[in-house]
Amino acid sequence: MDEKLVKKRRIVLVPLPAQGHVTPIMQLGKALYSKGFSITVFQTQYNRVSSSKDFSDFHFLTIPGSLTETDLKNLGPLQFATKLNQVCEASFKQCLGQLLKEQGDDDEVACVVYDEYMHFSNAAAKEFRLPSVVFSTTCATAFLCRSVIAKVNVDKFLTDMKDLELQDKLFPGLHPLRYKDLPTSAFGPIESIHRLYSEIVNTGTASAVIINTANCLESTSLARLQRELQIPVYPIGPLHIAASAPSSLLEEDRSCIEWLNMQKPRSVLYISLGSLALMETKDTLEMAWGLRNSNQPFLWVIRPGSIPGPEWTESLPEEFSKLVSERGYIVKWAPQMEVLRHPAVGGFWSHCGWNSTLESIGEGVPMICRPFTSDQKVNARYLESVWSVGFQLEGKLDKEDVERAVKRLLVDEEGEYMRKRAIELKEKLESSVRSGGSSCCSLDYFVNFLRMKSSI
Ligand code: UDP
Repeated sequence: MDEKLVKKRRIVLVPLPAQGHVTPIMQLGKALYSKGFSITVFQTQYNRVSSSKDFSDFHFLTIPGSLTETDLKNLGPLQFATKLNQVCEASFKQCLGQLLKEQGDDDEVACVVYDEYMHFSNAAAKEFRLPSVVFSTTCATAFLCRSVIAKVNVDKFLTDMKDLELQDKLFPGLHPLRYKDLPTSAFGPIESIHRLYSEIVNTGTASAVIINTANCLESTSLARLQRELQIPVYPIGPLHIAASAPSSLLEEDRSCIEWLNMQKPRSVLYISLGSLALMETKDTLEMAWGLRNSNQPFLWVIRPGSIPGPEWTESLPEEFSKLVSERGYIVKWAPQMEVLRHPAVGGFWSHCGWNSTLESIGEGVPMICRPFTSDQKVNARYLESVWSVGFQLEGKLDKEDVERAVKRLLVDEEGEYMRKRAIELKEKLESSVRSGGSSCCSLDYFVNFLRMKSSI
């Protein structure tokens, strides 16, 4: 680093307090730390990463401001993010101002990197004339979709999205995405999604965008996004390969690794729907039947709260435990990366969150794609029709379809082909973060970009 950057070497990170957002921004922090920056993480009161030994070199600060108990109970994830933006805007400005007052001469803040859903951060950065950088934890294609959706006529969009006949048709200009693949959300009405997307993609005064993706996955969308946004776009992922940063918000049940150790190579289906998706009792039972009938062993993460009922699987009808007891192993939360890396795992049934998608491809594991909401639908479409490392299980869940899907992935030749494709992509992803690879270079360009900004 040159002298100027040695002065401006602190980066402020503002994560959205949700698992799928916290993990990649902490990985980004590690990647930037390895380039010589100091890291300050501004957290809200919710879902905090502990300043454990893994982050002992990071500086953690709290943004004061809280939501009411009623809000916390009643708000879905999107309304929660919207409310958090309102509650934190003024207090973050104050905290950042305080940090700037106290900063040492050799440790000035170089920029604020904020999760795209924490857009209140931009106003504070602007006030203190700091470069602000948007960090997108979704794929570039989902970012592009949000930007396209934010620009289309709202009324026409709302009508089109409710038109059942259009749902299987391609959305103009976003090939191969169909209307039904667009990242609208199960967590709120289309009207409020449209408003939220307009706020998110309004990069306005932001100086750059960092995306946790790689050129080899999304070169077309990245090129287009670069043209649309007119500020530099840095694809620097997959961050979980570039920089490890254990930041699980829930306790991992490691007993499943011992169970995996007893299974045959590539025989196990790993099932996880991430940190937010919900399942109906009826679907959970159809899955259990289909899994049992497939005769393949399976490791199933059922997060408390993801199925109806106050307790855990005790709330499910009695037949459930009989169906899963023979070949299944159920946990509340797994060490997912370790599971995907395990030789016994042959496939991943996933909701296709972007982290899970990158983690699965990054381990060469093919997927059954059952997206739940928003960008997961985009990822599922790409997994199936662009990268050919998985297939979608669409429509109503029934046990015959589940059984067929499991066999297709783990037993049939088609699954073998998808595994081969996944392994090819794994190798490409690994080289993209190695020295000279596209993501590794992109991170260096970002560091140079900050160097230039610092010397203005
Ligand atoms: N995850 C985990 N253990 C589990 C299930 C998920 O550690 O049992 C992690 C997973 O490795 C990923 C994150 O939780 O990093 C989920 O992020 P993703 O973007 O896939 O989905 P989201 O939770 O945002 O819907």
